[in-house]
Amino acid sequence: TSTVFHFGGAADHDDPRQKDKTVTGGKGANLAEMASIGLPVPPGFTISTEESVRYLNDGAGFSDGLQDHVAQALTHIERTVGKRFGDPADPLLVSVRSGARVSMPGMMDTVLNLGLNDQTVAGLAAKSGQPRFAWDSYRRFIQMYSDVVLGVDHGLFEEALEIAKEDKGLYADTEMKCEDWQTLVAQYKQIVTDELGRDFPQDVNEQLWGAIRAVFDSWDSDRAKVYRRLNDIPPEWGTAVNVQAMVFGNMGETSATGVAFTRDPSTGERAYYGEWLVNAQGEDVVAGIRTPQYLTRAARETAGAKPLSMEEAMPEAYGELARVFDLLERHYRDMQDIEFTVEEGKLWMLQTRSGKRTAKAALKMAVDMVEEGLIDEKTAILRVDPMALDQLLHPTLDPDAPRDVLATGLPASPGAASGKIVLDADTAEQWAGRGDKVILVRVETSPEDIHGMHAAQGILTARGGMTSHAAVVARGMGRPCVSGASQVSIVREARTLRIGNRELKEGDTITIDGANGQVMAGEVATIEPELAGDFGVLMEWADRHRRMRIRTNAETEQDCRMARQFGAEGIGLCRTEHMFFDASRISLVRQMILASDEKGRRAALAQLLPEQRADFHAIFEVMVGLPCTIRLLDPPLHEFLPHNEADFADLAEATGLGVDHLRRRAGELHEFNPMLGHRGCRLGITYPEIYEMQARAIFEAACDVAAVSGEAPVPEIMIPLVATRRELTLLKHAIDRVADEVFAEKERRIIYLVGTMIELPRAALMAGEIAHDAEFLSFGTNDLTQTTLGVSRDDAARFLSVYVDKGIFPRDPFVSLDIDGVGQLVELAVQRGRATRSDIKLGICGEHGGDPASIDFCEKVGLDYVSASPYRVPIARLAAAQASL
Ligand code: ADP
Ligand code: MG
Ligand code: MG
Repeated sequence: TSTVFHFGGAADHDDPRQKDKTVTGGKGANLAEMASIGLPVPPGFTISTEESVRYLNDGAGFSDGLQDHVAQALTHIERTVGKRFGDPADPLLVSVRSGARVSMPGMMDTVLNLGLNDQTVAGLAAKSGQPRFAWDSYRRFIQMYSDVVLGVDHGLFEEALEIAKEDKGLYADTEMKCEDWQTLVAQYKQIVTDELGRDFPQDVNEQLWGAIRAVFDSWDSDRAKVYRRLNDIPPEWGTAVNVQAMVFGNMGETSATGVAFTRDPSTGERAYYGEWLVNAQGEDVVAGIRTPQYLTRAARETAGAKPLSMEEAMPEAYGELARVFDLLERHYRDMQDIEFTVEEGKLWMLQTRSGKRTAKAALKMAVDMVEEGLIDEKTAILRVDPMALDQLLHPTLDPDAPRDVLATGLPASPGAASGKIVLDADTAEQWAGRGDKVILVRVETSPEDIHGMHAAQGILTARGGMTSHAAVVARGMGRPCVSGASQVSIVREARTLRIGNRELKEGDTITIDGANGQVMAGEVATIEPELAGDFGVLMEWADRHRRMRIRTNAETEQDCRMARQFGAEGIGLCRTEHMFFDASRISLVRQMILASDEKGRRAALAQLLPEQRADFHAIFEVMVGLPCTIRLLDPPLHEFLPHNEADFADLAEATGLGVDHLRRRAGELHEFNPMLGHRGCRLGITYPEIYEMQARAIFEAACDVAAVSGEAPVPEIMIPLVATRRELTLLKHAIDRVADEVFAEKERRIIYLVGTMIELPRAALMAGEIAHDAEFLSFGTNDLTQTTLGVSRDDAARFLSVYVDKGIFPRDPFVSLDIDGVGQLVELAVQRGRATRSDIKLGICGEHGGDPASIDFCEKVGLDYVSASPYRVPIARLAAAQASL
């Protein structure tokens, strides 16, 4: 099978592999696709990802015959274009572009105008009749190639250009004349010779292979690795290389280049959206050197901008472009992100892909496209990344809160964020690491900043448009971003910002609003998100298509209300110890723990009972008619022990016991390995009165709520850390006895279940036995991961990231379930539990209940529900729907 595919021009072969992104990469597959539906695409060829895998991962070098295949494909371009590569009279020029399966900002930058040398530049000048254009192209080529392929610092070239302009008293590149570019080219070549000790390559084939190798090598660059790690892209995918005939947007006033979206990527609005520049090439639009112009007249007028829109300045090419937009949307049934160039009035398509979008836009587009008949409901559900919903569920700035607006830039990525100013990516990462919220402020970001952008709450740049690096990456990450705030200037040495006449230091707090581009001093108040509209529609569709129920992890009335608003259908985990940490109760809890006998414990518990009952009462009121899994006390006792002198003094006063006595008692309770010590049901077994009190509080509260509202919640009392059936048998008897007592007192019976958490490997293995007593099993996958892997989750931070980097774990197993390992235990317990009790209820609590990949697994093994923290409930609803489609 061939590893080289050509596109554009006469399609004399039709290999289905060419449209497979895994083979030709996203860019290559879509170029072939566009060419095959008759769009104007400059001819070119793609070297498949398999070559990069051979070359990098297997160290096997290129496949036999690759050189020949490339030569043949190049001939194909030459025939189609009618120019020859390296021809001094009329040279074919090409671009060399990387292209992984998914777009990757960490990859090699594109090299344009390849094939120029001291001879061919003269041919290009003569043939085009535009010497200035030819020399402009040559200087661009030398700079790009030297930077990207030869590793010469691009700053040296930029400096030389600045000096050249200063000498001439010029301001813009566009003012440079042909001779100026010629002089600069000579300087550029000298820079290369000085830096490398050899001349800039004049042999066009050497140029071509140099660039091809550089693309492959860039797959293993540090930048690419960071990006892959953050985006879960496996190293074995490799990248394709695209070589494509150049078209020129820099051939004068009838030429242009631009980027566009078929709908607004920020709001989802059905309006063409983009930026373009006359007489420009390649990345000029996104590089922030010149300020790009609006694509449509409407956008220009809304912004009150002067330079003409493309719609006004080049109506014909624009009309053609608009037709292409519609064709592409109908073809791909999705919003497209497009790169185009106009060469002397003629439109050329250089790239299309499904456009990155904000969560808000993703929702709106999915809902709109169903309405437009472009996609069906299921497709709409699958279109929205559940994790992206996170952006919508968080607060936005309160429109009524006072704002001290310092500057206004472009609303590049929505959401609001407050944080301390940091001026570089490393500082952002450090400060965020110690728990600070930070806003990364840069002139413009580049792929080297990605780790800092990730660590930051938001990003502010002084330069760059809506399609700048910062904007695109921030939207992808879901970070709010304001770009192009030109009033902001960064004083690097002093590490300060000057905005108008105000000065701010690194570390000062600012707020950015990605919805309108404002930058404000200090922190601004926020309001809760809007859950109706498109969000509501999509959620309704998701609910219709999912099988699993979604519950929440909550222990306060407030969290319960929030979770219900987000669509929770019950509580999957209420951790009762959280109620014990409350400042007003800790003293009673300590008295209970430090009591030397049962009598002392009971006395303290009697005082805690009404407090616990009130807790449950508040929760049950919000949850009438719904299942509520309540886990009895779980943590190691020492977590409640007095910590300091004052604690002991308070306690001594409350109990009338001496400080020395209390200290001794606390010492007795010390454990070497508390996570595997006296916790969970082991407490219930040794001090039955604790669980009895909790059971009583639960039943009394449930009966009281039922008495008032006529309907009860359904308590599911969950015993933690069970390893053997006998533990559960004993505790269940005690709970049932308390239930009978309370029901007799209250003269009312309510339905309740008793079950257990599966969080020890032994419990998973013994699930068949345990299910004789357990009416439900809930997988406590945090502890189950910890106990199965033998990795302490409180101590794992130090080495887990290295483990993930080295590919030992594909992802942090505490974030995304270790399906291969821990998953087996879950599956086994499900089978064995069901074999004993066919209607046993099965669910998952713990962090994994809000992780889409883990939810997909839960669907596969047939759990009845997943439970997630309140903000994650909508994510879980959507992920559960996607899992069952
Ligand atoms: P990226 O993946 O970073 O967007 P691209 O390979 O798409 O890199 O190229 C960067 C820029 O160069 C784009 O603006 C693109 O339109 C332009 N470009 C690439 N190939 C050509 C070509 N053959 N003719 C003209 N412009 C090109
Ligand atoms: Mg690029
Ligand atoms: Mg591109």
